[in-house]
Amino acid sequence: MGRNPMENPIHYATPQLRVGPPVTYAAAQRTLKGYDYVIIGAGAAGCVLASKLSEDKNTSVLLLEAGGNNENVLASKVPLMFGELFHSEHDWDYNTVEQLALASRKLYWPRGRILGGSTSLNAMMYHHCAKSDYDEWVSVHGCQGWGYDDLVPYFRRMEKFTPNPSRPAIEAGNRGAEGKWKVGIPAIPDVNTKEGTLGGVTRFQTFIDQKGQRSSMATAFLTPEVLKRPNLYIGCHAHVTRVLFDCLTTEVPTTIGVEFRSSKDPNSESFQVHARREVILSGGAINTPQLLLISGIGPADELTPLGIPIINNSRAVGKNLKDHLCPTPIICKANPSYTLDYLKSPIKSLPALLRWKLFGTGPLTNNVGEVAAFLRTVDFNFSESSSHPADFTSGSVGPDIELIAAPLSFIHHGEEPAAEGEGMFSIVPTHLRPLSTGTISLRSRNPFDHPIINPKYLSDESNNDQKVILAGLRGCLRIIRSAALQKYFEPVPINDDPASKWWPYSSSNIEKISDEDLVRFMKEKAFTLDHPVGTARMGPDPSSSVVDLQCKVHGVKGLRVMDASVFPEQISGHPTAPIGAMAFKLSQMIKEGKTPGTPLSAHL
Ligand SMILES: Cc1cc2nc3c(=O)[nH]c(=O)nc-3n(C[C@H](O)[C@H](O)[C@H](O)COP(=O)(O)OP(=O)(O)OC[C@H]3O[C@@H](n4cnc5c(N)ncnc54)[C@H](O)[C@@H]3O)c2cc1C
Repeated sequence: MGRNPMENPIHYATPQLRVGPPVTYAAAQRTLKGYDYVIIGAGAAGCVLASKLSEDKNTSVLLLEAGGNNENVLASKVPLMFGELFHSEHDWDYNTVEQLALASRKLYWPRGRILGGSTSLNAMMYHHCAKSDYDEWVSVHGCQGWGYDDLVPYFRRMEKFTPNPSRPAIEAGNRGAEGKWKVGIPAIPDVNTKEGTLGGVTRFQTFIDQKGQRSSMATAFLTPEVLKRPNLYIGCHAHVTRVLFDCLTTEVPTTIGVEFRSSKDPNSESFQVHARREVILSGGAINTPQLLLISGIGPADELTPLGIPIINNSRAVGKNLKDHLCPTPIICKANPSYTLDYLKSPIKSLPALLRWKLFGTGPLTNNVGEVAAFLRTVDFNFSESSSHPADFTSGSVGPDIELIAAPLSFIHHGEEPAAEGEGMFSIVPTHLRPLSTGTISLRSRNPFDHPIINPKYLSDESNNDQKVILAGLRGCLRIIRSAALQKYFEPVPINDDPASKWWPYSSSNIEKISDEDLVRFMKEKAFTLDHPVGTARMGPDPSSSVVDLQCKVHGVKGLRVMDASVFPEQISGHPTAPIGAMAFKLSQMIKEGKTPGTPLSAHL
C-alpha cells in the first residue's frame, strides 16, 4: 500500500486503549503514535498547510481527512461536472434550518468531503477579493498582519498564471508565475490587482489548468512529488471526532492530540494520535466550530446541557456566521448555440466529454460562472421603486453586489431544471456584504450528527440586506434588457405565462415588476453561493473572537485554526484564494516561530 494518500488510517494511529484516551501530554507521548503537526481537514487551507509544513524534512505532518481520495473522481476533474458531486459521498450534504425570511425553506449547503475539500467541487472562480476587505480586518477588527499588502506576496507565491492568447488583457507582471496553483483563463480587466479588486466587469480567471482540468488545492499542493515525502502522512476516511487536551499537568489546557474514526458506526474502532507540537484545525466554516464545540471549546451554556466538559468557555465559537446569498437568478431564453444546459443530458454531453478526454478543451472546461460584475449599489440608482441601500461596503470603497452570468439555467445550484427546457441564460446577483449574522451550534454531542446551521438570512434589523438584494436584482434586469444582449436571446422572454410561478413578466411589462414580486421570487428561489465564513473568527479579544492573530485558539495551548472560519468579517468575493494565501502565510509564520525538532512539551 502506498504511503499517501492511504485508504486506511489505522497504520498512522493507535487504536483506542481500553482505559480510554491519555489525559496528559506525557502519557500521550508515551502511548500514542506522534507527529509534529496533526492537520484536520484536507481542504483549501489544510492542503496548503500540509504541503508547506512538510517541506522541512525534520518535521512530520499527519493530514487527516474525513472524505476519500480525489484522484479518480472524474466529476472533480472535468470543470463543468462539479454539480454531479452534490449529494454524493464526496459532499457533506448540509442543510440549513428553516429560514424565516425565505418562506421557511431549508437551504442546501454543499461542502466538499474529499481531498481538496470544497475546492474539489467548487466553481473555480479565482478571486483575490477587495483590497479594502483585508484593510478593514486590520483597521476595524484589529487583525494586524492580515491586511491586503500582507497577503499579496502569498497570493503571488501560490499562483502559477498561464496566459491565454485569446484573452490578452492580463498584465502577466501582476500575476505569480512560479507557484503551484494553476490559474489560467485571464479576465478583462484583471480583478486581481490592487485597483482591480475594487470592482468592475470581468471574465473570471479560473483555477483550471492547461489540460482543461480543475486545479484544486489537492491537485496543486498534494502533488505526486509532495506525496512521496517520507515525513508527510495522509489518512483518508479519518473523521476526527475530538481534540484531546491535558488539563491536569498544565496551567492552561494543552492540546495533546486527536481522536478519529473511519466510520460513523458507533461500534467502529476509534483511533488516537499525538501532536507533538500542534493540532491545526482546517475543517471549514461548519465543521471547525462543530469540532471545537464537541471538544469543549465554546459557550458553556450551550455545552453543559449536552454533557460536554468545558475546556474553555469561548463565547464566539459558532457565532458571527456570514454567507453570500443569491436571491434568485434572472433568466432569459437564449439562442441555444450560446448556452450549455444541454450538457446536463448524459447522452448529449458525450461528444463534449470525448473532446475533453482527448484534447482537454471544449464546453466542459466551462466553470458555469464565466463573467461577473462587482458593483457598489450605493453608486447605482438601479430603481426608483427600491429604497436606496446604505453603504456597508469595506472601507466605503469595496463592492456590495456581484452579478454573475452563466450560460445555462442556474436555479438552486443548477439542480432545478427551468420549466422552459434548455437554452437558458442566467444572471444571478449575490449579496457580498450582509449584515445578517448566523450561528453554527450542536444538535448533539455525536460528531457524526450534522450541526445546526442557521445563517439567519435577511434578519438584519435595518433591512439593508434586502435593499441591497433588490438593487442587485434591478441591476440584473437592466443588464438583461440591454440592447447589446438582445441578439443572444430568443425574441420572447421565458415565463410569459402570467400563471407561471416563476417569471410572469414579458419584455413589454418587465420594468413594471414590483419590489413585492421580486421579494416573492426571492423567498421561493434564494440559494447560497456557498461562502460561509467567520465561525471561529480571528481577533485580539477572546470575548469576541476564537483565535488570536497567529490563529492560536484563545485559552488553550497547541491548537490553531486556519480555514474560512477565521475570517474576521465577510469578504466581497470568492474565498478560496484568500484562504489559500492565508494558509500559506500561516505556514510561514509557524516555520519562523519554531525551533526545528523541539516538541511542544519542551515549552510547557
Ligand atoms: C459548490 C461550491 C462552489 C464554490 N465556488 C467557489 C468559487 O468559484 N470560487 C471560490 O473562491 N470559492 C468557491 N467556493 C467556496 C470555497 O470552495 C470554500 O470557501 C473553501 O474551499 C473553504 O475552504 P476551507 O479550507 O475553509 O474548507 P474546505 O475546503 O471545505 O475543506 C474542509 C475539509 O475538512 C474536512 N473535514 C471537515 N471536518 C472534518 C473532520 N472532523 N475530520 C476530518 N476532516 C474533516 C472536509 O471533508 C474538507 O475536506 C465554493 C464552494 C462550494 C461548496
